[in-house]
Amino acid sequence: MKLEIQPVTNPKPGITDENSLAFGQQFTDRMFVMEYDTGKGWHSARIQPYAPFTLDPAAMVLHYSQEIFEGLKAFRRADGSIAMFRPADNISRFNRSARRMCMPEVDEEFFLNSLLELIRLEADWIPHSEGTSLYIRPAMIATEPMLGVRPADQYLCYIILSPVGTYYKGGIAPVKIWISDHYVRATEGGTGEAKTGGNYAASLYAAREATLKGYDQVLWLDAKEKRYVEEVGSMNMLFLYDDKIVTSPLRGTVLDGITRRSVLTLLREMDYEIEERALTVDEVMEGAQNGRLQEAFGAGTAVVISPVGSFCYRDQCVQLGNGQTGDLTMKLYETLTGIQYGRIADKHDWVVTL
Ligand SMILES: *Cc1c(COP(=O)(O)O)cnc(C)c1O
Repeated sequence: MKLEIQPVTNPKPGITDENSLAFGQQFTDRMFVMEYDTGKGWHSARIQPYAPFTLDPAAMVLHYSQEIFEGLKAFRRADGSIAMFRPADNISRFNRSARRMCMPEVDEEFFLNSLLELIRLEADWIPHSEGTSLYIRPAMIATEPMLGVRPADQYLCYIILSPVGTYYKGGIAPVKIWISDHYVRATEGGTGEAKTGGNYAASLYAAREATLKGYDQVLWLDAKEKRYVEEVGSMNMLFLYDDKIVTSPLRGTVLDGITRRSVLTLLREMDYEIEERALTVDEVMEGAQNGRLQEAFGAGTAVVISPVGSFCYRDQCVQLGNGQTGDLTMKLYETLTGIQYGRIADKHDWVVTL
């Protein structure tokens, strides 16, 4: 397929203040778009000016949520080069999500090359300050106008870009986590492993309740027994427990995070024993009190690593260690961001530079 590059006639002013960039509020001048029709396949791939879509009010995504997305970043490095972290992994996960949601897969090589071309054209939008980046949001939606329930015959796939500030304005800081014993995010056999909007829509109610009660995030338990911890918002959870790393296995209810995968590789190289098993909520609450639970952190593209300062469950709150960021958590944050920004050698071929 050919990629058409359309000119931008009305460029935006660009980033006005790098130090006040919020998450996902400003978008660049261009976007990648391609269309799909059953029988014809993907077509009309183009990089065009960023603009609203015209959608029929009957477009199936608006009624039955046939939608998937991804999230990754491009970084500007000290030597002026631009780096992306494991972008091929995001694209293959995009296709896994597509299969789960009965949507057409994309050609991974074409999609990656189109993304790289888009980043090259929008390079001026990548901020320079430490910890900032260009957040990349690929998405696919069902556009066929039809109210019957079945997989659509028409789709739109697109990539938009948003310059984002550092997640930690005052340095890396521990969060307060609420363990919900009522709401659930994903069930076995459900769509928890797909990066699809519906999972997030279903999580909003509990997240709002958590915010109103003064917590930063919701930690979800398994849906069946409400006993095993699974993941947090848009992060996988990892625990340092009895000097071993414990993290939920990937059995359909937890998203296969690329940050999680990378952190596990780094930890194996640091000779940590890794148990992919679900920690119970009792192990978390008691472990924080008797010291067996030494550190806990979330791992995801947006935050990279997010240390946990305390867990609250029912009417009890427990602090982890002294409530500060743990040494291992800090080391992993430094290592991952070091690899991304080019301060640490990339032994694993995770980084794609352009
Ligand atoms: C995207 C996401 C993650 C993190 O995945 P990364 O590839 O590390 O960014 C974790 N959990 C959920 C539910 C997600 O949507």
